[in-house]
Amino acid sequence: MEAFKAVYIFFIGACLGSFMNVLTYRLPRGLNIAIPPSSCTKCGQRIKFYDNIPVLSWFILGGRCRNCKSPISIMYPLAELGTGLMFLGCYLKFGLTLEMWHGCAVVFFMLAAAFSDVFTAVDDNFECGIIPDSLNLAGFIVGFALSWALYGTFKFPLYGALTGFLGLFIPSYLFKLIRKKEGMGGGDIKLMAVVGAMLGIKSIFFVIFASAFLGAVYGISLQLVSRQKNIILPFGPFIAAASVIYLFYAPVFDALLYNR
Ligand SMILES: [Zn+2]
Repeated sequence: MEAFKAVYIFFIGACLGSFMNVLTYRLPRGLNIAIPPSSCTKCGQRIKFYDNIPVLSWFILGGRCRNCKSPISIMYPLAELGTGLMFLGCYLKFGLTLEMWHGCAVVFFMLAAAFSDVFTAVDDNFECGIIPDSLNLAGFIVGFALSWALYGTFKFPLYGALTGFLGLFIPSYLFKLIRKKEGMGGGDIKLMAVVGAMLGIKSIFFVIFASAFLGAVYGISLQLVSRQKNIILPFGPFIAAASVIYLFYAPVFDALLYNR
């Protein structure tokens, strides 16, 4: 029975990962997320339900569209697999509880923001990485709703969101004032408000510093390897990574930071 539940949660995660692929492609391009139904981005052929099974279909089709044979990015099945595994992780950590669904929601919105940011950053049609406002707004509302369901108060998400927003807005405003150029995208600042709404005020201190640290380590390694200077990195994935780490180890970090 336990194994059945685990497989079931993984499957829900993989299906939502498939929906996430639709969101991260269509939202930054201003496309409707429901119409038309899933179709090949090259030839426009509608994808049949039996070719739309999360993770598996990509391998069955050999990574190509059934109609026009143009390659389909391996990121699609990887996003589905990753979301499924992270949902499974939430189940193993929290059991079949409301906390688990809260964890799944955090995972979903953080992965969606990270993928959206990265995919638009590497796409020449966009000047920089984009985390769509509609995605942040949805995460914000879900964060408030779940916090209400878990704690019976709006104080937790409200204080968290305000702290998250100001925690990134103030440094990025100062940076702009002093250096006269944009340091942080608006999408990143709004994403931090979503993190606060979902994980509360205590998470912000950790997430800001951990994401900055991860981003710096990655950026410096990339500069050393590519010997390029002034690489502009999308910051969303680092916020997302730090938030998911906090989700799983919140008691450890809270004890370290606040229980003195
Ligand atoms: Zn096609």
